[in-house]
Amino acid sequence: MAGGVAVVGGGAAGLATAIFAARRGLAVTVLDGARTLGAKILVSGGGRCNVTSARVGPEDFWQGRSPFVRRVLRSFTADEAVAFFRELGVTLHEEPGGKMFPDSNSARTVLKALLDEAARLGVTLATGERVLSAAPGFVLETSKGRVLAERVVLATGGLSLPKTGSDGGGYALARALGHSLVPTTPALAPLVLDGAFHKALSGVAHDVTIAVHVDGRKQVEVPGPLLWTHFGVSGPAPLDASRFWHRARLDGREAALFVNLLPPHDFEAVERWLLEAPRPATLAKTLAQRLPASVASAVPESLGIDPAGTLGQLKRDARRSLVHALTAWPLPVRDSRGYGFAEVTSGGVPQGEIDPATMQSRIAPGLYCVGEILDVDGRIGGFNFQWAWSTAFVAARALAASA
Ligand SMILES: Cc1cc2nc3c(=O)[nH]c(=O)nc-3n(C[C@H](O)[C@H](O)[C@H](O)COP(=O)(O)OP(=O)(O)OC[C@H]3O[C@@H](n4cnc5c(N)ncnc54)[C@H](O)[C@@H]3O)c2cc1C
Repeated sequence: MAGGVAVVGGGAAGLATAIFAARRGLAVTVLDGARTLGAKILVSGGGRCNVTSARVGPEDFWQGRSPFVRRVLRSFTADEAVAFFRELGVTLHEEPGGKMFPDSNSARTVLKALLDEAARLGVTLATGERVLSAAPGFVLETSKGRVLAERVVLATGGLSLPKTGSDGGGYALARALGHSLVPTTPALAPLVLDGAFHKALSGVAHDVTIAVHVDGRKQVEVPGPLLWTHFGVSGPAPLDASRFWHRARLDGREAALFVNLLPPHDFEAVERWLLEAPRPATLAKTLAQRLPASVASAVPESLGIDPAGTLGQLKRDARRSLVHALTAWPLPVRDSRGYGFAEVTSGGVPQGEIDPATMQSRIAPGLYCVGEILDVDGRIGGFNFQWAWSTAFVAARALAASA
């Protein structure tokens, strides 16, 4: 395939890059180590694939309103992603929180549409062909032989869910071509807790906000549902919080997570509520107005306060400890469940080494990086796929312009 574009990795970002580039007349070969493509698309969004979000901005990514992220997102917006999928015959609908899902409610529809379009455009899909090494030039040694390409797009993802083929192999390729790497950690990963509090509540879900404190200072507050599980906590809020816990630990800093079980109410509002509630009412019954019954009992019990006692019996110190527990419940995080359960990877190819107008490497001309391999990770809700679509579009546009 001398002279063509080799896309390494046929996940969301690689397939989209191949489609956008082939639509502009380029000959594209996608090389992927997996025998069948799109394993991660199929498991995404609980098998329904949260393709994008109705509203996407740099603030939805954790890199602090980065101009790099802003520029890429502007080049291919969420509306354009919706239109792209409509053209492929996949209409999307909006769900709470702005999440966009296919009307079929099946990730398979999304994958099939991408594969059909790639086939229609004559994209070569070389499956079961893992790229083992890359040398400037570009000479790619693969599990099936040698591939020479004029331009290479690295779309190898990160380390999340390595059994799908995204096992970090792309980082070695980027390094071999001269790039440095921001150290990686799991992100959007369930959290493993010490103690037993969570076990009794396993299966219970409710809305919370989680404040992440690093070295004693609040760094971020993430809202959303929390699901108590036998190992700890999962659900959107813990998943979003997990990357901050990991990044702090990586930097040797102390991370502490505090859950407000009664958002948006703060300490004063919750104390006022308890003071104004009818005195003969039991604590459990009162708390159960705003919390699942099991949580309403478990929190006072954990403090040695009888949930069957009345509000009138509650002494000032006990009331204040209870309010504190309800608004800043410390999560005893031991670890996350790691890359095997993480939805994305934080870290990767540094933003500064890539031109956001083209996704071309500033280090190795002719090399492009798209999707999760980059040091960009977004919150839960369709933002990470949008990153794949946007980076793919930018890279393909630049590949065609410089052909
Ligand atoms: C369980 C789960 C649910 C998710 N749900 C959502 C969701 O609903 N919405 C959302 O926005 N995001 C979701 N995500 C995140 C989303 O899947 C990723 O952001 C996205 O898939 C990244 O796309 P990518 O193409 O960059 O990488 P990947 O999808 O990881 O694809 C990389 C591809 O490269 C191949 N590859 C790797 N190394 C090599 C090599 N050396 N040679 C050849 N091929 C190689 C792999 O086999 C793989 O096919 C979810 C992730 C997980 C794990």
